[in-house]
Amino acid sequence: MRKQIQELSWLEAMKQRGQLSNDEQKSYQRLQRGFQGELAFDQLCDHFLGNKINCLDDVTIDYQGDVLQMDKILNNKDIIYLIDIKNYQGNYIYKNNSLKTGDVTFTNNIIEQARRSRRIFTQLFNKHHLQLTIKNVIVFINDKSRINLCDDLPEIVLNYEEIPTWLMSISHDTQITYRDDWQKLVQKYQVPSFKTSRICTTERFKQLEKGIHCEKCGSFSLKSNRYTLQCACGHIETKQITFLGTICEYGLIMHHLPLKRSEIVKFFGKNYSADYIKNTLINYFEPLNVNKKDGKYQNYGQPFDYWFENELISFEKLEKRKNWQSNF
Ligand SMILES: [Zn+2]
Repeated sequence: MRKQIQELSWLEAMKQRGQLSNDEQKSYQRLQRGFQGELAFDQLCDHFLGNKINCLDDVTIDYQGDVLQMDKILNNKDIIYLIDIKNYQGNYIYKNNSLKTGDVTFTNNIIEQARRSRRIFTQLFNKHHLQLTIKNVIVFINDKSRINLCDDLPEIVLNYEEIPTWLMSISHDTQITYRDDWQKLVQKYQVPSFKTSRICTTERFKQLEKGIHCEKCGSFSLKSNRYTLQCACGHIETKQITFLGTICEYGLIMHHLPLKRSEIVKFFGKNYSADYIKNTLINYFEPLNVNKKDGKYQNYGQPFDYWFENELISFEKLEKRKNWQSNF
């Protein structure tokens, strides 16, 4: 599962409960566009490569202190493609080693960034005697934007309409033999993706809307039944899941601190039972100090779907309850 970076999830959670500053709103739109671009490219890969695909998504590695992030790494025979996905808007021109749109020249050179990744991967593979050729691929995923190359580049740069042909050229060429030696090596150097440096201050936390919001329409006025919460929009959710989700949301917003029961109770507001919150914490979260009952729990700073990624199947069973117990 491709995941949003923490910064995007954080901005999303803050937006749900308050106002974003202009700068935050801009970052939010840029990151959201980037993520949608990555998903769109994943879909194209699935469509044209199907199960022949041998890839890793969203890889952050630390090789001897050099940290880099790749949107996708694809392997075909002896070639490793390091793929950067750009969901830019507008028309771009690459000339004299710099990227321009209109009169604006980009300070971060996407080609130079790609080359740096290639250098680091080359060192890594050489050190471990992996005989693989590494190629950079820069994908312009937005069908309404274009890049024109004036320089002759060794990198593969694809405009939207060129993506299918490129993927098909790989798919025709794929050997049945599946090698995963490179995957194992890359995973050895993998580190967690970048944590956001954005922080919600205590002052700002006080301003945020409290309570549980409907997953579908965002409304905070939910009717509480015994096992479910019901929204005026018609959406019904299992109570236990919404409590878990809201605790994770608190953890995401306050990712720089441990989960603290008393703060979480404030976050839920007056309409929700402190006992139910307490029991949810005891049953599903890891206490920071097993011997001290101080109401502090481990905070992974992630949305519910990522935090409980491995337990999602058991939650689906819980979710079924709402169908037969929604009359309570
Ligand atoms: Zn709703």
